[in-house]
Amino acid sequence: MPTAFPNLIGGREIGSADRLPDINPSNLSDTVGEFARATEADLEEAIHAARAAFPKWSRTTPQDRFDVLDRAGTEILARKDELGRLLAREQGKPLADGIGEAARAGAIFKFFAGETVRVGGERIDSVRPGIDVEIFREPVGVVGAITPWNFPLAIPAWKIAPALAFGNCVVFKPAELVPASPWTLVDIIQRAGLPPGVLNLVIGPGSRLGPALAASTDVDAISFTGSQEVGPSVAAAAIRNGTRVQLEMGGKNPLIVLDDADMATAVAVAVNGAYFQAGQRCTASSRIIVTDGIHDRFVGAMVERMKRLVIDDALKPGTEIGPVVDDRQLAKDLEYVEIGRKEGARLVHGGERLKRDTEGYYMAPAIFTDTQPGMTINREEIFGPVASVIRVKNYDEALAVANATPFGLSAGIVTSSLKYASHFKRHSESGLVMVNLPTAGLDYHVPFGGRKKSSYGPREQGSYAKEFYTIVKTAYTAP
Ligand code: NAD
Repeated sequence: MPTAFPNLIGGREIGSADRLPDINPSNLSDTVGEFARATEADLEEAIHAARAAFPKWSRTTPQDRFDVLDRAGTEILARKDELGRLLAREQGKPLADGIGEAARAGAIFKFFAGETVRVGGERIDSVRPGIDVEIFREPVGVVGAITPWNFPLAIPAWKIAPALAFGNCVVFKPAELVPASPWTLVDIIQRAGLPPGVLNLVIGPGSRLGPALAASTDVDAISFTGSQEVGPSVAAAAIRNGTRVQLEMGGKNPLIVLDDADMATAVAVAVNGAYFQAGQRCTASSRIIVTDGIHDRFVGAMVERMKRLVIDDALKPGTEIGPVVDDRQLAKDLEYVEIGRKEGARLVHGGERLKRDTEGYYMAPAIFTDTQPGMTINREEIFGPVASVIRVKNYDEALAVANATPFGLSAGIVTSSLKYASHFKRHSESGLVMVNLPTAGLDYHVPFGGRKKSSYGPREQGSYAKEFYTIVKTAYTAP
């Protein structure tokens, strides 16, 4: 019998007869656990618990909040190997990446523990005589956090930690597909000393719980990370109530490789950016834009490297790429490979399902050449190990192609030219720009977010997180 995990609402464990199994995508006969599916009534209870806890929690001292976040960070870091293993088992990213993500979650809690005492305010001279002007930052209230399945520890951490640090209460709805990591994270934070109701976990179908959370008049802010298909509806529901909203969504991230690129760097950056974590990163490189002079040599070197990639069980030592997350994602990835072929792109490597010792959702990373910017595979987010090469004449054309997308999350360039690197940093229409680095892979202490259809609202992470998780008040005092 797999372990049954309850929802965590108002400091209590709320079970349910309606449960969903959490299946290991590397080995379909392995069930990680069974998770209670929350009802709309459970969600309502969670929102009320958060609302009831808010007056007291919002008036705690920064030191009180520092202590909770710091203790949580310490436990996450101490248990990073175990958490990383759980994450790798339920999501399919290789063990080292899972452990890395757990360590990142711990570091985020440590960082925001520090932010509790750094938030501060301002005193500004009035333009009128004898008046003092002060600017305070106050908690926003009840925050709804909706997260995707691809980073089930890091993304919840970078929403929950700043929310709590600045005195907010949280209703957290993780992706139903990968619930064990978020469950364990909430358990750790709870035991670090949170009063009941400050943080509540509701697991269940996004299509039912998500709209209800976004539309609740008792929620003051919604932080959503997920797809472009869902994000705008969350914003629309929130805005109707005047609820503050922040969206982080998909990408169609370009990586430019110029003639003067170091070949080893170009291949390492492209393979990592496009295929690691099975391409299931919002910052994954999916359009590799390559100039004429290096194109054929680059494609040849990519294929050689791709032939050597170790694609296997996420928990096996030496695995570089694990399975994709579930049957739906695998079917979607394979369908895009078919679409690419039908539209005239040349599949030069990969793109097929793989068999391994255990039954799982394994796929050979695919690379297309002879693709045009207007093809479906170059326009839509695939979110799998599929990338295409677009051949261009020169840097100017590469930049134009890179920017010709409704998305704007991350963009990269591989070049040894300071001139082109500097120009690209200035003229790329994206929230993140990488020079000689993969489009994915970020620091935890600096702002994160995109432009155009990839993002909406203030940046997440680093000291910029306070723009979303605090509300500004301006006070005037006459003597
Ligand atoms: P998704 O949009 O399907 O789901 C995201 C979350 O929203 C889940 O918790 C889901 O249950 C919930 N949800 C589903 N339907 C909803 C609705 N109608 N209303 C409210 N909530 C609803 O995304 P996913 O498949 O979990 O994740 C993959 C997507 O996330 C990709 O598009 C990827 O690019 C994006 N992503 C973006 C970032 C970023 O920071 N920009 C990071 C990671 C993933």
